[in-house]
Amino acid sequence: MENISVTGEAGGAGGSYSYNTLKRLDQLWSNICSSDTRQPGDVVLDFSGSLSDVDMENNMISTFDVLVCGGTLGIFVATALISKGLKVGIVERNLLKGREQEWNISRKELLELVQVGILSEYDIEQATMTKFNPNRCGFEGKGDIWVEDILNLGISPAKLIDLMKIRFTSLGGIIFEGHGVDRIFVYDDRAVLKLTNGKVLSSHLIIDAMGNFSPVVQQIRSGKKPDGVCLVVGTCARGFKDNITSDVIFSSSSTKMVGDTKLQYFWEAFPAGSGSTDRTTYMFTYVEAKPGQPKLEELLEDYWDLMPAYQVMRPLKRAHNRFRPVAGVPAIAAFVFGQTEPPAAAYAAATIENTDYEFDGIE
Ligand SMILES: Cc1cc2nc3c(=O)[nH]c(=O)nc-3n(C[C@H](O)[C@H](O)[C@H](O)COP(=O)(O)OP(=O)(O)OC[C@H]3O[C@@H](n4cnc5c(N)ncnc54)[C@H](O)[C@@H]3O)c2cc1C
Repeated sequence: MENISVTGEAGGAGGSYSYNTLKRLDQLWSNICSSDTRQPGDVVLDFSGSLSDVDMENNMISTFDVLVCGGTLGIFVATALISKGLKVGIVERNLLKGREQEWNISRKELLELVQVGILSEYDIEQATMTKFNPNRCGFEGKGDIWVEDILNLGISPAKLIDLMKIRFTSLGGIIFEGHGVDRIFVYDDRAVLKLTNGKVLSSHLIIDAMGNFSPVVQQIRSGKKPDGVCLVVGTCARGFKDNITSDVIFSSSSTKMVGDTKLQYFWEAFPAGSGSTDRTTYMFTYVEAKPGQPKLEELLEDYWDLMPAYQVMRPLKRAHNRFRPVAGVPAIAAFVFGQTEPPAAAYAAATIENTDYEFDGIE
């Protein structure tokens, strides 16, 4: 776990871990819930006529066949296109890097990138931090289904994206980092992309890979808020014995009221690559974006309350049953896995080695 970098959050989903980001996301979430529609302002604007008729050419710094906006998964698309001989650029508003915490994925899915020709099997081995089987899907009291080879690899996004960056740039690709998409002007023959720093690029094709908060998607939806949202909280913790299987999806409790809302919580848990007893655990739920919905911080409180029973833990010594975060100070909360008690007797308490904790996956 010492290997997990806590400097610099990554831009993509699940790349945030600080308490400040949690507060920021809660503010964003509550804004989404309280408004009927968001007024994003149009990002993509249509113009008739040719770009060559416009005086903009002078400000143009580069022209491309394809521009990919959003670099997290966008870099894989961009590398596939550049390997076909196209001139490709990537626009990423943050630094283009993968998060430290692993992506869980099936090998079969990764092999598709080998078929496309942008990864080798050796690359996959290099980026694979953990492998585990079998993988459980279940609802408490309804029986479990154990499957093999489903989301059973832990891949380092940091390594994989670094690798892809090297491949992409070595093929002549250009990455514009640190500035987002401001406007896209679509002419008959080309589109023009203006960055937030005022630079202007042009391309025959612009691909939106900006994830959940894409301004293009917001425009297409006329500012309508999401129909549903998956809220996720989670941590990475050390001390889990027999840490060789995963939970792809597991619900250990029936629905419960949180504020005005009836929620069904689901868990996901995977061995983490940072150490043999380290485990990443997420708790997630699906909600509508409307007033009165629980905050992420409330979900996190439930997470601490429910996690010991879910992970079958017992206290090694009498300790806090609730952890309080310290703003801006990421650290690790350690749970201790029950070793001698039968699962049915497991109860909610945890040993904590550090009173601060790290947020590992918050959307
Ligand atoms: C906690 C958590 C854990 C997850 N774990 C997994 C997992 O294990 N396996 C899995 O397959 N999936 C997982 N997911 C799903 C995850 O959403 C995807 O794997 C992946 O991150 C999606 O990538 P993306 O590039 O589509 O979107 P994002 O990850 O959201 O990336 C979008 C990118 O666009 C950039 N961007 C946004 N706006 C602009 C702008 N205006 N201009 C320029 N750039 C912009 C962002 O900085 C970011 O780099 C997880 C999600 C969460 C929240």
